[in-house]
Amino acid sequence: MGAGGTLRLPRLREVENGANGVHSKWHDHFAEVPDVLKVPGREQTIVRVLDIEIGGDDFVTMAGPCSVETEFQLMATANHVRRAGARVLRGGAFKPRSSPYSFQGLGLEGLKMLAHARQETGLAIVTEAMSECDVPMVADYADILQIGSRSMENYALLEAAARTGKPILLKRGMVATIADFLRAAQIVLDNGNPNIILCERGIRTFETAMRNTFDVAGIVLLKLISHLPVIADPSHASGSRDLVPALSRVAVAAGADGLLVEVHPNPDKAWSDAEQTLSFDDFDEMMASLDPFIALRATRLPALDRERAMETVG
Ligand code: PEP
Ligand code: MN
Repeated sequence: MGAGGTLRLPRLREVENGANGVHSKWHDHFAEVPDVLKVPGREQTIVRVLDIEIGGDDFVTMAGPCSVETEFQLMATANHVRRAGARVLRGGAFKPRSSPYSFQGLGLEGLKMLAHARQETGLAIVTEAMSECDVPMVADYADILQIGSRSMENYALLEAAARTGKPILLKRGMVATIADFLRAAQIVLDNGNPNIILCERGIRTFETAMRNTFDVAGIVLLKLISHLPVIADPSHASGSRDLVPALSRVAVAAGADGLLVEVHPNPDKAWSDAEQTLSFDDFDEMMASLDPFIALRATRLPALDRERAMETVG
């Protein structure tokens, strides 16, 4: 803190440089994916969904259960996360699972419940499409199509999803490099869809204590080199609910444009990903703890009036 309680911020020159064009080293490294990179004169992509802007000044939280289970579970969660400040409801109706014997999702019935939740709450809906055959049906109900980690390199799925024109939430493959990730984004762009949200959700490393390793440097790099919005999924990145709030704060500090978080009325009884799912109280606490980080984030946006932002955190 400076004199008079004013928080002094670093100048963050690297972010400003990023806005003016990317260092040639990165252009060389990512030469295969020219259209996803920042270049002078190319604007930041802002993905518009209902009245929500992802990639702009707002920090957008997407929250909800791993899987859609019942009308009660989904509606209780939707109402709760909306009141706590989420703008988008997540929930899988088609579930890619690590075990073939785990719950695979409610399919169409789950999509209908999601659409009903949107109607009741005004939240936008993000849900996964697992195969190109399901894309038209999922697109009929979803506002944002999620491409899961296990599907990131399924180019037939990416092409079908891109051609719907719906915003695409593209999750990083669990063994994908940043270049692999951006290649998948380039496929979506090549199929005429510029509305892409990149999602860092952890990668496989030699670490075993956590489900995945949260690649925070990946978020920093993506924000530096790409004009696409970047969000973080601390739930799948860690696999443990007690790590999720801290990783969310780290994601905001790293420059993420939003979060994707798993929340359930009774997390221990969740049909999938119970251990990483937050309760309503956990979620409220996490959202409250994010506020000062989100205020600080505003000061990093070059377009924003720094004086005004400083007042927010002063
Ligand atoms: C999910 O979001 O529920 C999911 C299955 O995530 P991922 O594809 O990142 O494993
Ligand atoms: Mn999950």
